[in-house]
Amino acid sequence: MIKITLPDGTVKEYSKGSTPMDIAKSISEGLARNVISAKFNDTIVETVTPLNEDGTLTLYTWNDDAGKKAFWHSSSHIVAQALEELFPGAKLTIGPAIENGFYYDVDFGEHSVSEKDFPAIEKRALEIARGKHDFKMRPVSKAEALEKYKSQGNEFKVELIENLEDGTITFCDHDTFTDLCRGGHIPNTGIVKAIKILSVAGAYWRGDEKNKQLTRVYGISFPKQKDLTAYLNLLEEAKKRDHRKLGKELELFTFSQKVGQGLPLWLPKGAALRERLEAFLKKAQKKAGYEMVITPHIGQKELYVTSGHYAKYGEDSFQPIHTPKEDEEFLLKPMNCPHHCEIYNARPFSYRELPKRYAEFGTVYRYEQSGELHGLTRVRGFTQDDAHIFCTPEQLDEEFKKVIDLSLYVLNTLGFDNYKAQVSVRDLDNPEKYIGSVENWEKAENAIINAAKEKGLDYVIESGEAAFYGPKLDFMVKDALGRNWQLGTIQVDYNLPERFDLTYKGSDNELHRPVMIHRAPFGSMERFIALLLEHTGGNFPLWLTPEQAIILPVSEKHEKYAEKVLKSLENNEIRALIDNRNETVGKKIREAEMSKTPFMLIVGESEEENNTIAIRKHGGDDLGSITVQDFVDLVTKEINSTLKSF
Ligand SMILES: [Zn+2]
Ligand SMILES: [Zn+2]
Repeated sequence: MIKITLPDGTVKEYSKGSTPMDIAKSISEGLARNVISAKFNDTIVETVTPLNEDGTLTLYTWNDDAGKKAFWHSSSHIVAQALEELFPGAKLTIGPAIENGFYYDVDFGEHSVSEKDFPAIEKRALEIARGKHDFKMRPVSKAEALEKYKSQGNEFKVELIENLEDGTITFCDHDTFTDLCRGGHIPNTGIVKAIKILSVAGAYWRGDEKNKQLTRVYGISFPKQKDLTAYLNLLEEAKKRDHRKLGKELELFTFSQKVGQGLPLWLPKGAALRERLEAFLKKAQKKAGYEMVITPHIGQKELYVTSGHYAKYGEDSFQPIHTPKEDEEFLLKPMNCPHHCEIYNARPFSYRELPKRYAEFGTVYRYEQSGELHGLTRVRGFTQDDAHIFCTPEQLDEEFKKVIDLSLYVLNTLGFDNYKAQVSVRDLDNPEKYIGSVENWEKAENAIINAAKEKGLDYVIESGEAAFYGPKLDFMVKDALGRNWQLGTIQVDYNLPERFDLTYKGSDNELHRPVMIHRAPFGSMERFIALLLEHTGGNFPLWLTPEQAIILPVSEKHEKYAEKVLKSLENNEIRALIDNRNETVGKKIREAEMSKTPFMLIVGESEEENNTIAIRKHGGDDLGSITVQDFVDLVTKEINSTLKSF
């Protein structure tokens, strides 16, 4: 008999050679129907792998990430079979699962595969799936494995096998198809009910441009047809909400090849929106005891040698700028922390003066390869809503809670209300990896975990995910399309205070090291606004949106009255403008809808007579005719309901 420990801690005995599927069946028939993958003692196994020793078993269904991974990896085998059949002579290389679906890199030789081939591939793949073929793992000798692929002339698989050790090589069979694979499959092909080929792209063998270019076939699959339909709808919606598209339509930002790739240019409406976001955070930060500082965009190379950034990132950064006469070397600032350390170092502090909280909307520059750049989410120059808190180890607990409060205030106010926290702590088996005393690490990790608990956060602890210089907390935010984003990292740091020799005088009159906290609730203004655009589809909260109202005079006759309405709105700090183009009201309404302006104020004969405005909300709701004052009250009420003070 073997002892199997399940994730909930229960231990059960099974006869030697029982499979994960046998164990699932012993728990419940329902579970057995849904189990598609398993992990035994930290190794992914097949659901039919005989277990011959005591160990911990985790069973996965489609609802687990590991379940999806096995599902999509298995689907790549099915699609590979279809490709091999439809394009004779095609050479298969690798086919892993990815975050959404899977791909297979193929050398199609004389064939070229394009979108028009997708339906045929999908059709054949689905036929194979319906055959309910079991995935069966089979150990093979290195010689046998090489023989198979040499005879096919597949130099890619041969190269893969040559790097493997004899005795560790396995094939996976299903139907008439065999692939080199180390495992991790669902029980059989029949579980796959829907397959979609999404796109093809060029990809170099092993990601090296010196190698042969292959065709990467991207696909996704689901256990239900309706899941695929929902996914395709989501893709469609994501396209509509793409921040690059919306940023252009709403005239928020642009890029110029002349200025340079990855360097966003903020247009007046975008700049104003960014300023409102900054003002919102500045106000809360002021209440939370932060002080604003300002530092230059460059720093001496020496500064980053001291901080350690140069040794770590120097080679892959923008290269130093040299002064013409003195031969000094400066770097474009990749982060604000070293500058802030030197601000702290400007004068001595007593423990009574701590914590010091220095905040700056600091613009930094990081080199990214041009191929990696993406709209506002991957750029070469961006502004962080940065702050560094310098405190005593005893204050860490309290400070961490305060930073969480501020981060949650930001997320909740901006409508990101679906989030989890992730606490990254040390790997206790490798203590030599970390700087700082064990005592301080324990203090910091406990501070973070206690703070997360006390604030009622839904959190997970990730062992070994901490940076070498301190533990951290991240928020994993789910947007309106169900995609996950990492936001608002709060990082404890024992390293920079050491490197910059930061001190404070304690109650014992001795010098001590402060602890440093890095935090940025938005992360960067660029990335945050991109997220906000995609999350809201460009329908920003009323307090943030570029124009809150647009006045549409029915004809030229009513322009004077429109001006009067605009004046009174401006006096009440409502952002509005008049569309007095010589166009029909219908056309003006359609364009105002496109610009996502929350309120349209239509003024014509009867409005002018009664001193009112006819209100139409974005999206079509007609609110009837009301006075300007009533409209001001309506806007104020809506703003107050979303923009609460910190
Ligand atoms: Zn496989
Ligand atoms: Zn920092």
